Amino acid sequence: MSVLVVGSVALDSVETPFGKADEVLGGSATYFSASASHQTKVQLVGVVGADYPVDKLQALAERGVDLSGLEHAEGESFRWRGRYRHDLNSAETLETRLGVFSHFRPKIPAAFKSAEFVFLGNIDPRLQLEVLKQVDKPRLVACDTMNFWIESRRDDLIELLKHVDLITLNDGEARQLTERANLVQAARWILERGPKTVVIKKGEHGAFMFTSSSVFFAPAYPLESVFDPTGAGDSFAGGFIGYLARTGDLSDASLRRAVIHGSAMGSFVVEGFSITRLLEINRADIARRVAEFHELVAFDKSLDS
Ligand code: AMP
Repeated sequence: MSVLVVGSVALDSVETPFGKADEVLGGSATYFSASASHQTKVQLVGVVGADYPVDKLQALAERGVDLSGLEHAEGESFRWRGRYRHDLNSAETLETRLGVFSHFRPKIPAAFKSAEFVFLGNIDPRLQLEVLKQVDKPRLVACDTMNFWIESRRDDLIELLKHVDLITLNDGEARQLTERANLVQAARWILERGPKTVVIKKGEHGAFMFTSSSVFFAPAYPLESVFDPTGAGDSFAGGFIGYLARTGDLSDASLRRAVIHGSAMGSFVVEGFSITRLLEINRADIARRVAEFHELVAFDKSLDS
């Protein structure tokens, strides 16, 4: 089964303690697609301006990402500029230029409307809601968001929650959205407003998945060097939702395996700038890393003394 993703297709300029990248491929839909394409076919809906290096997106098309829903509009592409200091867990946004995104109205192509898995990447929640009005009857709708939208479109975001099955967000965003410092309370607050599953990512400290009856925790892969954390969240979502779409299995056990696939993809993308690492790796690399995750948390509980 394929996944429909709607989100930003950006030009990112990023500074980390290890280097700088200028105007490289970025955006929530770009990272998500590059990651999910290791699991399943992806249908992308987004917008770019006349200045976007669309030839570079060919690498995604070659990986089975259908770009026929990518609109080419007059004007400047979406640009994000961010910086990470030594704490690589939190990005400091230096500039967000919406460009063609400020007039974007997502149009879901007829061939994408029957999508069974939908990921509403980090964009204006009003646009995320517009997408849901255009799709038929997905089996799973997941969304992501960020502080920018929590601050500027809080009411729309709370309305969106009523219509999604699953949300992924990081710990800071969960606290900001729910005004709860405690993450268990924050997850409950969100679960009471619509989603049946809440995934709270904690960067290098792993990710929690909450449902009304269970909590699952996956550590982050202990990488020796993290180069650029940009896109870790969207790549996590790509691995996570991509895995669910490939298997078609929405059981609790499958959701847990999906979290590990998400964590694996997040751990790859931060090894380089932009989507470079996601384009280099293959199924065997992913399987190896998933096995390493298993090793990382395995212990024998029968040896209690
Ligand atoms: P993350 O996976 O959370 O690191 O997301 C990083 C991506 O989000 C970057 O490639 C940015 O281009 C994109 N981004 C940053 N701010 C926004 C925003 N306000 N709306 C949509 N996308 C954004």
